[in-house]
Amino acid sequence: MIQALFFDGKSTVATPVALRVDGGLLHIQAAGWQRCERAESLEFTPPYARSAARVNLPDGALCEVPPGDFLGLRRALAKPPGLIELIESRWRYALLSLAVIAACVASVYVWGIPIAVGIIVERAPRTLDSHFGKSTLTQLESYGLIGPKRAATPREERLSRRFAQLAGGTAVPYQLDFRDFPAGPNAFALPDGTILMSSEIEALTQNDDALMFVLAHELGHLYYRHGVKLLARATLTSILITWYAGDVSNALALATVGVLNLRYSREAEAQADAFAIARLRAAHIPTRPAADLFRAMQKTSSKGGEGKPRKFAVEPPDYLSSHPATKDRIRLLDSDTP
Ligand SMILES: [Zn+2]
Repeated sequence: MIQALFFDGKSTVATPVALRVDGGLLHIQAAGWQRCERAESLEFTPPYARSAARVNLPDGALCEVPPGDFLGLRRALAKPPGLIELIESRWRYALLSLAVIAACVASVYVWGIPIAVGIIVERAPRTLDSHFGKSTLTQLESYGLIGPKRAATPREERLSRRFAQLAGGTAVPYQLDFRDFPAGPNAFALPDGTILMSSEIEALTQNDDALMFVLAHELGHLYYRHGVKLLARATLTSILITWYAGDVSNALALATVGVLNLRYSREAEAQADAFAIARLRAAHIPTRPAADLFRAMQKTSSKGGEGKPRKFAVEPPDYLSSHPATKDRIRLLDSDTP
């Protein structure tokens, strides 16, 4: 017997009743009357917040049932609870489902997005790379982060000729663009194939072999289309966050993605390094001078001090922060000398 309250659906008067299940029927008994209903004709409303659990009868009447008796009553009437009710009825299930949701979101970010990026970039026309590259170059120029186009110096012409030999056979379209970078020594490749190198990085070494490594590393990023993958990933992540969070937090989502995707992954850097080492090895160019260059860069960057004020509101990450000049990397370049 379950004690419940009966409402006839016409007035707000609550009548105390006793509920009993027998032979697939729900018997409702009160002083002076009783009725019974077939299980198939009943609808169940689980308890939610402060509202009671309900058994709805076909004529609009209903019984309010104590939450503790609700699941038992459903089972007795062979009406198993729905998945949501089951989850809500047990805090362990609720925690478990939260964990499952978190795992799904993490899986989408860790595996789903990279797979989608791979498929999109594979099918995306090369004109997309060119578009991304040109718009980035225009932005860098308009912010004053790179100096205007200038004539190449004799050393830069020599570097260009040497690099053309080194890059020959890779079938990666590129063009070298030597500029002055007010923010300091730097080099990076834009998705359209433009490899930008600052005169400040050239000034750090007299050894052209070191600069061959830097250029070959950037060519590696182009070979693997790391830049366009990074942008595709940022765009896809922002679309997913916007879709999930709604339009209101659109701006926030984009800002978050900007920070999350500012740099290439460690894997991408290692890939570009391996590409450069293989090119240099094939051309019998030593890699040790590059290790010396990175040591010199580390020294100049530590001389500037940790709290060095930024010259610009927006700065592309400097070569050392975007390219891990870690001890391991320097050791690798030191040891890989033909
Ligand atoms: Zn890199």
